[in-house]
Order: sequence, then C-alpha cells, then structure tokens
Amino acid sequence: MGRRFLLNMQGIASAGVRPAAWVIHPREFISFAERLSVKGTIFNYQRYALHDGPGIRTTVFLKGCPLGCWWCHNPEGIRPSPERIATTIPSGGSARAKASVIGFAADVADVMAEVEKDVVFYDESGGGVTFSGGEPLYQPAFLETLLAACRERDIHTAVDTSGHAPPDVFRKMLPAADLFLYDLKVMDPVRHRELTGVSNGWILQNLKTLSERSTAAVLRFPAIPGLTDTPENVRAVAAFVRDLETIQNIAVLPYHHTGEGKYRRLDVPNPMAGVMPPDAAALERIRAQFESFGLTAVIGG
Ligand code: SF4
Repeated sequence: MGRRFLLNMQGIASAGVRPAAWVIHPREFISFAERLSVKGTIFNYQRYALHDGPGIRTTVFLKGCPLGCWWCHNPEGIRPSPERIATTIPSGGSARAKASVIGFAADVADVMAEVEKDVVFYDESGGGVTFSGGEPLYQPAFLETLLAACRERDIHTAVDTSGHAPPDVFRKMLPAADLFLYDLKVMDPVRHRELTGVSNGWILQNLKTLSERSTAAVLRFPAIPGLTDTPENVRAVAAFVRDLETIQNIAVLPYHHTGEGKYRRLDVPNPMAGVMPPDAAALERIRAQFESFGLTAVIGG
C-alpha cells in the first residue's frame, strides 16, 4: 500500500511541516510588472473545457499535489517538478517508444498570454479560466498572482481543489477567486489518510470557512467503488454538508479509468488497476442517499 505514496509529499504535510510551496508571496510588495514575472510549474492547458465550471473555459493544470489519491486520474500532476513520461510515436506502421518531459516552468505573463486567446469565448458563454492540477493551492504565490491578473482583465476564475492547504493560505485565497470546485472524499480521518496520504483536518476546516464566507462553490464527491461509495461514508459526508451554512448542493462524480495509461507511461503502480466505474444504479443510490439528508445532489459535474 505504501508504494503509491512514493508519488507524493504527504509525509511532509502530515508532519505539520509547511513545505516551501505553502509560503505565500507578500503580494502587497509586488509591482504589476513583477507580478507578471512570478513563476510556477504547469503541466497542461486545456482550451474549450466544458466541465470545469460554467461556460467555455481554459483549464490551467498546475503541477504538484500533496495528496496521493488511489484513484487520481492525473498522476502526472502529483510530483511538483517536471518529470519524464514515455510516449509512443507512430513510425512506419509500428510504434516507437520515446521519453518526453511533462511539466514546464511558466510565469504569469506566459499563462495570461495563453488564457487571453479565448476571451471572446468566455464572454459569449459566461466562461473563464479554471486553475486545476495537481493541487493549485500548492503553488499559492503563483495561483494568487494568476487570480489577480485574471481579475484585472475581468476574466472569471475557478479553483479546482482538494481543499488540503493550511487554513491561513486558504483564507487568503478565498476573496481572490470567483468560484471554488471543492472535493470532499472521505469523512473518517484515518481512512482518508489511507486513501489519500493525508488527514482531512484542513479539508473540513477550509470547507467550513468557504461556507461561512458564502463564497461561490460547487462541492464534489468522487464515487470510487468500494472506497468512498460505502453507505457509511456517504452518510457521514451528507451529515457534514447538511450542517454547512451556505453549501447545500453536491455533485457525485463517478470514478473513471482514463488515467490508467498515464500510470504505465510514468512507470508507477496504479492502485486502481482493473477497477470498473460505478454503474448507474450505484450512482443513483448515492444521489438518493444525499437527497435523503435534504441536499440537492446531481450525478456528474
Ligand atoms: S487531490 Fe486530485 S490531483 Fe491530488 S492526488 Fe488526489 S485526485 Fe490527484
């Protein structure tokens, strides 16, 4: 079971030691020009994204995540630094293996140049930019500066997060983003640590803060067969959400195995190899269980 945790840095986080990534840059001391030169590490851009918030969006994938969820479908986003990944390229009717590097350094000006290509689509569809990962809060200075740059250009922003960040870092980010896409996976802290590598203390605390501040949020529950989808866990998640002040909706996101090939290409073990996605009946059972707590639940995000 410990093999998957080679992927992440949960040991640092769970020991209560704050990694350098969680030191926020003092924005008030940064000029506009300096802001554009704040650097981070990215591993992908996805233009015309339709499932990462409202409207047509560009999703920017920031590299590095302190968790190591068994079901992660972006394992190439977990390590904070660029890494090698195997690629097969067609070669005269057969395929040739080649190693390439995933992840690259970018500054705020680079990212803004990419996201500004589609401003017309954001305006027409009510879309914008979503910062995902990895865990975008793991590069807080970079994220905060990107959010500020988008706001200066009237571009709507969403942050797709596990919620696992020091509460002071999270609070500081709250007013900077227009929307949070927030995952809530497992309520039992011991089980949460087994399945993700970290406890859920910060995640629950930050979710309460999000609700108390009435920040716009979409809460998401990953339905992972045999792991998160047990009636006991769904009940515990529902009871917690029911007591939040302003968040009463939840989206049930079915497990999918589109990331399987990436584990092979990264040459890391896939803890979910062979596990099939939940069927419609299982998803409906989860949705109905959430609704029995008075919540509004939908399948899909
Ligand atoms: S929080 Fe998201 S990116 Fe990080 S390991 Fe879990 S599923 Fe992957």
